[in-house]
Amino acid sequence: MSLAVVWFKRDLRLNDHAPLQAALASPSNLLLLYVFEPSLLVQPDCSDRHCQFITQSIRDMQQTLHTIGLSMTVLMGEMVPILHAIYQQHGPFTLYSHEETGTDATWLRDRQVADWCQGQQVTWQEFPTNGVVRKLKSKSAWANLQRQRLQLPEAQPPWAHAKAVDASSLEIQFPADSLDFGEHPLMQIGGEREARQWLASFLEDRHRGYRFNLSKPEGARHHGSRLSPYLAWGNLSLRQVFNALQQPTTSRRTSRDLASFRSRLYWHDHFCQKLETMQQYERASVNPGMEAGFLPWNQAHHDAWATGKTGYPLIDACMRCLIETGFLNFRMRAMLVAFHSYHLRLHWQPAALHLARLFLDYDPGIHYPQMQMQAGTCGYHTFRIYNPTLQARLHDPQCAFIGQWVPELAALPPAYRLEPWKMTPLEQVMYQFIPGRDYPHPIVEIEKTGQEARQLWWALANKPEVKAITKQLLARINRPPRGFDQDEKDDQ
Ligand SMILES: Cc1cc2nc3c(=O)[nH]c(=O)nc-3n(C[C@H](O)[C@H](O)[C@H](O)COP(=O)(O)OP(=O)(O)OC[C@H]3O[C@@H](n4cnc5c(N)ncnc54)[C@H](O)[C@@H]3O)c2cc1C
Repeated sequence: MSLAVVWFKRDLRLNDHAPLQAALASPSNLLLLYVFEPSLLVQPDCSDRHCQFITQSIRDMQQTLHTIGLSMTVLMGEMVPILHAIYQQHGPFTLYSHEETGTDATWLRDRQVADWCQGQQVTWQEFPTNGVVRKLKSKSAWANLQRQRLQLPEAQPPWAHAKAVDASSLEIQFPADSLDFGEHPLMQIGGEREARQWLASFLEDRHRGYRFNLSKPEGARHHGSRLSPYLAWGNLSLRQVFNALQQPTTSRRTSRDLASFRSRLYWHDHFCQKLETMQQYERASVNPGMEAGFLPWNQAHHDAWATGKTGYPLIDACMRCLIETGFLNFRMRAMLVAFHSYHLRLHWQPAALHLARLFLDYDPGIHYPQMQMQAGTCGYHTFRIYNPTLQARLHDPQCAFIGQWVPELAALPPAYRLEPWKMTPLEQVMYQFIPGRDYPHPIVEIEKTGQEARQLWWALANKPEVKAITKQLLARINRPPRGFDQDEKDDQ
């Protein structure tokens, strides 16, 4: 009997899973496979919180599989030796998986797998992920292709005749049972069941006030969909979310909230398509001339930013909240990057890796293009040089979020939670709080750094050599989805 190996990557679900459907439709025995790969676990963008989410997702799949007499084989090892061991034990097979828009490390691994498959005459059938188009020929055709993909019917796995192979000897050869990724109690839990619950609660109720709360660090935690880790690790497909959105809405206000949400779903693929088209987004600044804005590396400044000790309360609250919970809304992510890039004028790459490890929803396809956009290294976006004090006035006016995540400021009245450096000596005695001792002095003066960065970045963007690359970039990358500009305004 032939064998079908379904290799799960960032598609940790059993529903709407085209590779699984294709494998089940074949007359072959089945091996459902997840592999923790040591060469990827040591990459600087990988963290325990990602692995814990993966483990929870697999556990959830195992529960469902158990009810139909199947199970997932979870191994620890490199893909090529594992595929080779499968080949030796079971003979020729077909490998099924989704395409992955990943980092250089996953591209390299995929190339090694492709070479091995070719050498052994093993067929590797890859299926598109959401609306991302591999080897896109015409960037103007992308938006239509994406929509067509998302309108296809959901894949329904025909489980009835599924028959698993015995994988026990592989489990002995490549054991993954001693993996321990620690406890992360304040983070969202992985798995299709959890994903469906977050989706249902958002569509039933939480979406009310979506647009109003989008930029608010606390409000977005409740009124944002919070689907990002489930989409990033594939507990949900985009198609499933679009289909769930077909439900009629009750009020005009609600439908505007959901329209705004819907356009963000399109952004998901828009950004992934950028990395799919240009792997350089991960490796280097796409418009290298913009790098002249960065200062020589300052480890102390970077560390203060990375640990939430810059002396700017909203920056520090956001970073500490992210460290504890793995989530931050879009505006606050953009503000953290802007602080690192424009106010500290530090290169974006170490910041990208730090945030990648902290974001539970880390998805290279969104992350790297967003990092470069917010760090000002594309050369063609508006430079959003956020002032964190102004952002706090707008989006955390009572400084409740700041008080929650920077406890050393919690006992101060809101005005001083926002600007503790403005306390008079008398007030310092009254509140028993000494700026510089109980909370850091600001590490830079943002009025000054903001103004300098604004002048510098615009001057760089107008240099002929930068403009020439901007033109080339705009000719290469896919067009923004419809409504993109309007929605950017929602998020001001
Ligand atoms: C520097 C930076 C890095 C980022 N890195 C990631 C990342 O690694 N993974 C990730 O999923 N998102 C990333 N984002 C985008 C965005 O911040 C998150 O998707 C969003 O905050 C998730 O919250 P939500 O699920 O409640 O989103 P909602 O507002 O409810 O949106 C629904 C879904 O649409 C997609 N989406 C929303 N906003 C964006 C956006 N701006 N760009 C692309 N897709 C979007 C997400 O999949 C999201 O789950 C990044 C943003 C910035 C500024």
